[in-house]
Amino acid sequence: MSVTVVGSIAFDAIKTPFGERERILGGAATHFSLAASFFTDVRVVGPVGDDFGEAEYAVLRERGVNTDDIELVEGGQTFFWAGEYEYDLNSAKTLDTQLNVFGDFQPKLSEGSRNAELLFLANIQPDLQREVREQCTGAQVAGLDSMNFWIESTRDSLVRTIGMVDILFLNDAELRMLTEEPNLVRAARKVMEMGPRVIVAKQGEYGAALFSEDAFFALPAFPLETVIDPTGAGDSFAGGFLGYLDSAGRSLDEGTLRRAMTYGSTLASFWVEEFGSERGRRLTREEIDERYELFRRITTIESVPTA
Ligand code: AMP
Repeated sequence: MSVTVVGSIAFDAIKTPFGERERILGGAATHFSLAASFFTDVRVVGPVGDDFGEAEYAVLRERGVNTDDIELVEGGQTFFWAGEYEYDLNSAKTLDTQLNVFGDFQPKLSEGSRNAELLFLANIQPDLQREVREQCTGAQVAGLDSMNFWIESTRDSLVRTIGMVDILFLNDAELRMLTEEPNLVRAARKVMEMGPRVIVAKQGEYGAALFSEDAFFALPAFPLETVIDPTGAGDSFAGGFLGYLDSAGRSLDEGTLRRAMTYGSTLASFWVEEFGSERGRRLTREEIDERYELFRRITTIESVPTA
């Protein structure tokens, strides 16, 4: 079992009401890889510039992430994103996006990455996501995430890419934007008509909802007293969800999907407690399982006696 992920590998500048970081390791593929690495083998695909040093590689390798398909573009600069959050931490305001080495990146996946059973197309240009989908012939299940930036600038390409995946992760505002449908249930149905079998609507501090052909499941977020920086919440959610799904054999039955949602939310709850991936790097599988169990108990009414 293994997961291949393509997406941004980045340096981020982040400001929240609780502090700021001028330049930290970020990127959708980075957050995803670290979170998924608690469940399965992960291979990350994407370009970096020569400002990406040993310290950055070490963060990934310490969690056992395979970095063979990270391509170094000499003389290039790593993807850079600057964002800011106000007191409502649910939506990031993008201050700057510099694609840099992603500008003319042509993915060439190694055999190991092509043969992974599960593929995640993390947030990046949808043409690139599609090229990777086509190369990953071994993938039995493919997931995809995107954002308003790509919905606005590359909608047609994104819709084509969505047609090639099984599970779509988007936040509820993005689902409405993509489908021009204000009702979330109808929006999810419309996106399923584009191809995916499962839609996960992320709702920030309110949790997430899952739609599939025959299941609906909504989960609140884990109740946290301290939220410092939501960056990476979506990707760590997808990492926990798909990492678990891969380890559980990739069946899309309702029980597995419910557990995947709970693991996804558990990982995201740790991620937002500190800046970027700072909390995720110190995390242990024991801490994850302990919070998962607590989460399971507080979100089910099955153990409550009927009146
Ligand atoms: P999220 O999990 O949704 O909070 O994603 C956070 C990560 O997305 C950050 O670490 C950024 O580096 C990355 N990011 C921001 N904008 C883009 C973009 N347009 N394309 C790809 N990745 C991005």
